[in-house]
Amino acid sequence: MLKKNVETFLGCDAEYTEAKIVLFGAPFDSTTSFRPGARFASAAMRRESYGLELYSPYQDRELTDAPLFDSGDIELCFGDSARALDDIRVRAAHILADGKLPFLIGGEHLVTLGAVRAAAERYPDLHILHFDAHADLRDDYLGAPLSHACVLRRCHEIVGDGRIFQFGIRSGDKSEFEWGKGKVRTHLFDFAGLDEALCALEGKPVYLTVDLDVLDPSVFPGTGTPEPGGVSFDALRRALQACCERARIVGADVVELSPHYDASGASTAVACKIVREMLIALSKQ
Ligand code: MN
Ligand code: MN
Repeated sequence: MLKKNVETFLGCDAEYTEAKIVLFGAPFDSTTSFRPGARFASAAMRRESYGLELYSPYQDRELTDAPLFDSGDIELCFGDSARALDDIRVRAAHILADGKLPFLIGGEHLVTLGAVRAAAERYPDLHILHFDAHADLRDDYLGAPLSHACVLRRCHEIVGDGRIFQFGIRSGDKSEFEWGKGKVRTHLFDFAGLDEALCALEGKPVYLTVDLDVLDPSVFPGTGTPEPGGVSFDALRRALQACCERARIVGADVVELSPHYDASGASTAVACKIVREMLIALSKQ
C-alpha cells in the first residue's frame, strides 16, 4: 500500500499510543545572540537522520527496539518569545500528561524553558542536567530576560538552589560564575564529576538539556556561538549514555544545531547520531 509523505526522525514512526518517548521540534531562534539559523535544525535533522543506521554498535540495540513517535514541529510565533515558550510548554505538558517522555529538538536554547516549565509542573522535585559550552546564567541579555543566554537562570527560578548540574562549561560573563556559586553546580570544561552527580541524582526526576555547542567546533562547527576547547563526540556520547541509563530522565532536549553554518552537513549528522544514541539509551528505561 502507498503511504502518506510524512517525514519523521529515523525510526520514530510507531503509533502515539504505544510510544513511551515522543519527539517534537521547536524551530525557534529569535533570541540568538550571535548567528541565527537554529530554526532550521529539526527539519534538517529529520532529513539527515536517514543517513544513519537504526543499529547502535555502542549499545548493541536498534532504534526500533522500542516504539518511538515523532509529533512534528510546533508552529511558533517568531516575534513573541513568551508566546512561543507557552506553545512549547503546552506540547510538553500534553506528552507528560499521557505518561510519556517529551524529547524536544531545538531551536535555540531558550526553547528548553518551555519544556522545563511543563516538567516542573508535573515533577515539583525536578533536577536539571545541562551540557553546554556556555553557562547561560545571565539575568538578562541586552535587557531581555527571555534569551538563550539566560535560559538556565530562568530554570533556576523554577527549580531552586543545588538542582542544576552543568558540564562542559567554558564560557560566560564573570558575574554569571560568581552568581552561580552555591546555587548551580558548575563543572568546567568536561565531564569530570559526572559519576558523582549521577549518584546524587539517583531516583530524582531529571530533565536533560544538551546544547550541542558543548562539542568542540572542530567536530561541530554548525552552531550559532561556537566556542573552542570543547569535548569530543565520543566523550559526549558516553556521558549521555551514562545519564540516560542511570538517571530517571523525565524530559530531554537537543538544541543549537544551526545547519547552514556547516555546508558539509557533518554537524547535522553529529546531531542526528547524538539523538539516536540518546533515544536508544532512554528507551531501555
Ligand atoms: Mn546554551
Ligand atoms: Mn551554548
